[in-house]
Amino acid sequence: MIAHAGADSLLLVYCWPESRPWCNLTGMGQQRRRFLLESLAGLRRDLAELGQDLFIANGRPQQELPKLARAIGATRVGTSLTPGYYERRAREQVAAVLPVPLEVHDGNTLFAPGQLPFALADMPSQFTPFRDRLEGLAPAAPLEAPRHLPPPPRVDFPPLEAPACRRHTAFPVRGGTRAGHRRLRQWVHGEQGILRYKDTRNCLDGLAGSSSLSPWLALGSLSVREVAATVADFETTVTANESTRWLLYELLWREFFHCRALVDDVSLFRAAGTPGRVRRCTFEPRNFARWCQGDTNYPLVNALMHQLLATGWMSNRGRQIAASCLLNEYNIDWRFGAAFFEKHLLDYDVASNYGNWQYLAGVGADPRGGRHFDLQKQTEQHDPFHRFIKKWDGYRPYQPEYAVDAADWPL
Ligand code: FAD
Repeated sequence: MIAHAGADSLLLVYCWPESRPWCNLTGMGQQRRRFLLESLAGLRRDLAELGQDLFIANGRPQQELPKLARAIGATRVGTSLTPGYYERRAREQVAAVLPVPLEVHDGNTLFAPGQLPFALADMPSQFTPFRDRLEGLAPAAPLEAPRHLPPPPRVDFPPLEAPACRRHTAFPVRGGTRAGHRRLRQWVHGEQGILRYKDTRNCLDGLAGSSSLSPWLALGSLSVREVAATVADFETTVTANESTRWLLYELLWREFFHCRALVDDVSLFRAAGTPGRVRRCTFEPRNFARWCQGDTNYPLVNALMHQLLATGWMSNRGRQIAASCLLNEYNIDWRFGAAFFEKHLLDYDVASNYGNWQYLAGVGADPRGGRHFDLQKQTEQHDPFHRFIKKWDGYRPYQPEYAVDAADWPL
């Protein structure tokens, strides 16, 4: 927006994510869709205060943007740099058919590309050397929100549908920048949850232990640079401790996966990942369906999957436990799990989701070659009194993992 602030008129466009069949799944879970619709409605409200609006296009950017650019006689067209193979291809296809050059702006990461002490193509393939190379580097300053914008051209702005479901009381976050800023202020300066973050971040329930900022970060309603600046301000004006530093450390994980996704491109979706490390797996549709529905022989996993389906949320620890179950107890191709998370997570972001799944499956950035969590031990550590399991209805009747007929054929 800032780049276009001096124009005579400005058309702001959002292209609705394309529903692409992948791993037997399509579409968006109802909570993820609800959060996205609220975020767009919130952006429209904020823009209306500046005399602007948001054009929500229902087709692919490579079809919609050139059409719109021609219709309004655009002299400049810009987009933001987001990681992902399909996103990169869409940018290239848009650029190829636009009547003017496509301007690509960064801003979705802590550091501007020019700040990195290495060329992106040479970035470390593992997190620790990546973090070490960034030691002492200050994140880029956040952009200021615009106070004035050029008016929109004369076009009909399509209406936005209303969400089909309500926020769940167990994770009642609302989409949009205002709600994101409120949560950031409240968690850092208000309740000062950040001071205990290192000890509480593995809590399984939402809002209780970690910042829960990821849904707003994923949609760009909050900028990661704003989060870093707010934490830095807290450290200078209030106090700094191990927990405040740990939050910045976690933001570096996001940075790592975003940078890696720009480099890894299509191999982010390959079973063997970027290193081309083949992981043996099977595919039992029945076991995948049981995992998705939360109907396994692991009460904690069931509870986590019910939480995800109802709220669109799962904590970081929960994601690791549920993923380990799919990978190690059922030996299923990691991409099926990643696709299911993609469908349902409010904070779905291609780089963090696929990067973390590859890491856990041992085909990504993990030097140890994958993680296998002991589900019994995880239950004892993170839900010793089974409160979480009971809350999310995790107990299910025992079923044999692999049902076979009399001749030992899988049923
Ligand atoms: P906090 O603990 O408060 O951390 C603050 C911020 O740091 C987060 O909001 C996030 O932006 C970043 N962060 C923390 N941990 C990670 C991590 N491991 N990787 C990348 N960034 C991190 N995160 C997403 O944003 N989108 C996803 O689609 C996603 N999918 C995941 C899938 C799996 C299998 C796993 C194990 C993790 C995934 N994560 C994903 C990372 C992490 O689980 C979430 O970022 C975190 O749980 C969000 O909660 P929070 O905002 O309270 O995080």
